[in-house]
Amino acid sequence: MMISPGGRIGVLGGGQLGRMTALAAASLGYRTHVYSESADDPAAQVATAHTQGGFEDMEALARFAAEVDVVTYEFENIPVEPVQWLSERLPVRPSPRVLRISQDRLREKDFLGRLKIPTTFYRAVNAYQQLVTALGVVGRPAVLKSTRMGYDGKGQAAIDDAADPALAWRQIGATVGILERFVNFDYEASVLVARRPSGDILTYEPVRNVHRHHILAETHAPAPMSAALSQEARRLAASVAEALELEGLLCVELFVTREGGLIVNELAPRPHNSGHWTMDACVTSQFEQTVRAICDLPLGSTERLADAVMLNLI
Ligand code: AMP
Repeated sequence: MMISPGGRIGVLGGGQLGRMTALAAASLGYRTHVYSESADDPAAQVATAHTQGGFEDMEALARFAAEVDVVTYEFENIPVEPVQWLSERLPVRPSPRVLRISQDRLREKDFLGRLKIPTTFYRAVNAYQQLVTALGVVGRPAVLKSTRMGYDGKGQAAIDDAADPALAWRQIGATVGILERFVNFDYEASVLVARRPSGDILTYEPVRNVHRHHILAETHAPAPMSAALSQEARRLAASVAEALELEGLLCVELFVTREGGLIVNELAPRPHNSGHWTMDACVTSQFEQTVRAICDLPLGSTERLADAVMLNLI
């Protein structure tokens, strides 16, 4: 179902990604209604309307649902239940299924594995004894991560030859986890892909990302890869979007190995910090593309007009 300009886009979450989506929506003629904890949140400040509430506040969610034509989210670490509830009443894009997969590292890797998309070798870890067994097959160095609520290196512990696994287990909070083989990558990269409900898919050129202290510090566009590898990265991203029946925009984070291979690390079903360069260097920014995709408008050209570097000033 297409939502025409003039329509009302609901955004769950009030952060900066929601803010930039709201600004792009306004320039395309849409109104944005933000659902968040405070009317002073970055996205709420520039939105047409705001509903204050938490994700357990069904009365506030019902009021919000009655006032929007489509719902999206700007952060994947939100509970699925209210999103599922909303999706039974109006279009939620990307769907709750996409949210469920992308917010859980184990589900995400299992999903990618079923698509035969390369990920690092991993094992699920639900208890300390399982971690010891998993270390035996994954080997060291490895990275132990909690499966949920992880971003910017939170809920992660490296396990090298000298590390005590018991300490790593405590560090991630002794919760459900995933043990990943450490990838000795050449560099990190990411690819944005947009898909609209009627099926069209477009990808952006892969970019190279530099992290410092687990936080994205720099993005360089384009990534220094061969045309063939760039094609392959874009093909992987498109096949993920297809398999997810994505309605919206998604960022695929990758490792480029020293052998020149690609390993998918993470999926984020929303505009991404590594995609900010598209605002100034592409025909269509990631935010405009998000609005186009969730409203089922024709997608905009992803052509890159110039080389670009993004520096994160946090
Ligand atoms: P993530 O939260 O999975 O995005 O991880 C944050 C950062 O930790 C990544 O950007 C990488 O720099 C590093 N990292 C995560 N997983 C691995 C891995 N399996 N091997 C090597 N580095 C990793």
